[in-house]
Amino acid sequence: MGYLEKLNDRQRQAVEFGNGPLLVIAGAGSGKTNTIAHRVAHLLATGSDPRRILLMTFSRRAASELARRVERITMQAMGQGFAAEALTWAGTFHGIGARILREHALQIGLNPDFTIHDREDSADLMNLCRHELGLSRTEARFPTKGTCLSIYSTVVNADEPLADVLRDRFPWCAQWEAELRRLFGHYVAAKQAQGVLDYDDLLLAWAQVVDEPAFASHLGAMWDHVLIDEYQDTNRLQSHILLGLKPDGQGLTVVGDDAQSIYGFRAATVRNILDFPEAFSPPAGVVTLDRNYRSTQPILAAANAVIAGARERFTKDLWTERESVERPRLVTYGSEAEQARHFVDQVLANREAGMTLRQQAVLFRTSSHSSQLEVELTRRNVPFVKFGGLKFLDSAHVKDMLAVLRFAQNPRDRVAGFRVLQLLPGIGPGSAGKVLDRIQSDRDPLQALRDIAPPRCTGWPDLMDALAPWNWPEQVARIRCWYDPHLDRIHEDAEFRRADLLQLEQIATASPSRERFLTDLTLDPPDATSGPAGVPLKDEDYLILSTIHSSKGQEWKSVFVLNVVDGCIPSDLGTGQTAEIEEERRLLYVAMTRAKDRLTLGVPLKFYVTQQTRRGDRHVYAARSRFIPRDLLERFEVMHWSAAPVTGGPSPTMPVIDIGQRMRGMWG
Ligand code: ATP
Ligand code: MG
Repeated sequence: MGYLEKLNDRQRQAVEFGNGPLLVIAGAGSGKTNTIAHRVAHLLATGSDPRRILLMTFSRRAASELARRVERITMQAMGQGFAAEALTWAGTFHGIGARILREHALQIGLNPDFTIHDREDSADLMNLCRHELGLSRTEARFPTKGTCLSIYSTVVNADEPLADVLRDRFPWCAQWEAELRRLFGHYVAAKQAQGVLDYDDLLLAWAQVVDEPAFASHLGAMWDHVLIDEYQDTNRLQSHILLGLKPDGQGLTVVGDDAQSIYGFRAATVRNILDFPEAFSPPAGVVTLDRNYRSTQPILAAANAVIAGARERFTKDLWTERESVERPRLVTYGSEAEQARHFVDQVLANREAGMTLRQQAVLFRTSSHSSQLEVELTRRNVPFVKFGGLKFLDSAHVKDMLAVLRFAQNPRDRVAGFRVLQLLPGIGPGSAGKVLDRIQSDRDPLQALRDIAPPRCTGWPDLMDALAPWNWPEQVARIRCWYDPHLDRIHEDAEFRRADLLQLEQIATASPSRERFLTDLTLDPPDATSGPAGVPLKDEDYLILSTIHSSKGQEWKSVFVLNVVDGCIPSDLGTGQTAEIEEERRLLYVAMTRAKDRLTLGVPLKFYVTQQTRRGDRHVYAARSRFIPRDLLERFEVMHWSAAPVTGGPSPTMPVIDIGQRMRGMWG
């Protein structure tokens, strides 16, 4: 079996492991994802049915990359490949959950046309509920809609009582326990009346279905093998679902690294991976990997040193044979603007030296942190794609279009309805609310909507036409045409937005159905690009910009990390509890271990961070992240970069001169 020969002994052991439950736990870049891909390929090569394999990981992009890897390996193995599409059950927990719920909707009392709310829609609905219960007006200090949603979401995903969640994670909201309980009850009832599910419901409903023994065995029997990558970032509900599907663990493989667990803030728990072996009897097989194939020795040594400061850790340090004399760089800057300029200088210098843009990435803690860099890249004409940024879907016009599509699918979806009806001239929140109230309980809400055209509203018949049950994708085209005049009325820069909507229509047309399109888009939006008005840059060379969270599992020759300062990594927005700080350390570890050959950490000194004091918040200048204390500096090449006033800037080794002063000096 030629395709197994490239693997090391441990990887091969995992690939050929029999049918019992299996855990592969190992550090970054040790070939975990590679191993899971080979295991699937091996299953296929030995006769497994691709339609009976369930493969899940943290993003749709990661899932399709995994499927492509399997495709390549089977091609080598058998001279003939399985098309990646043959793996019909490859996706995220949420995406697969949505599919299962829709397919079984009638049996489990769900409206098969349910629409899915993204986080922002959910926050809007939560807000609506707060208003209805009078919680926002009378109680000035009542938690914001976003906080309410976080609390609700944590209760659901961590599978913990509200009181415990408040005590442990939101102590400043504990006094509102009774009101929150009432609010959440109301929120759940509203979702059910409107036929909408939020992200959490996709897991919650799936878990509840699995609790029904008849369903559990039916679902469990759909797949001979269930394999999960990045298992350290799953939550209680997800492990509950898995164990419900495969109670004896037969055919179950999970893979992950506890040192890379970075989704605790969304109730993921590293206990899932640590407790996995003992969940079965006899316990699951455990394979650990200790050789890193990704990074050079100096990069790995620096990353190991950062994670060595962690309190608790299962996976051990890795070793590598990739020698190099180049240490990772830690560069301090006067300001963020200087950091942006120097990062772009280096990216371009790397390109001069033969490294494509695509082999490089810039990573950051929070999406908004890349704004200065984006400006600089645009100014210097460097194309980029931003992962984990929601620019595209966040824009009002795209949200409008999607709301119309959602409203067409499910006219009871109140958040979508509000948005759509208020696009019509002459309809404000009051009359929109009345219309939505009237269709709420009607058996045929679309017909009801048709019947109740408010007086004086000229746009009504056209809207009804756009909402009619046209064939997919005819409907997208109709809706876009309907929306087009509104675009000119609402937005000044209508031309740019029009290009976005055309792009949206293209994405929609490629999707087999409206449900599928809306589900995929809501759960895993497309990446933002720097192209004119978001035109995809398919074959072009472009730089990757990504949040650290979205960079998980990936690798680049050269990696830059923005703002490695205290207050940013670790972030100053959390509660400052030890568990949160430890998660931030792992985040830095994830960022550093994405690099193969070259790593640069940026430390802008003029970077305002918030410091909590007894008198309230105070803004102070930043300092280097606490995760790189003084004794770790020897692992880095430390330098300070100062810009000359001219753009372009000298290289760091050049002296800094003030031309202006010299020129003035010429005159005495
Ligand atoms: P992460 O923790 O970041 O998800 P990982 O453990 O999943 O990393 P992979 O992405 O599978 O690691 O592999 C890292 C790199 O090492 C890839 O470039 C992969 O091709 C390479 N690699 C893995 N195993 C081997 C091997 N046996 N021989 C050569 N290269 C390998
Ligand atoms: Mg991986």
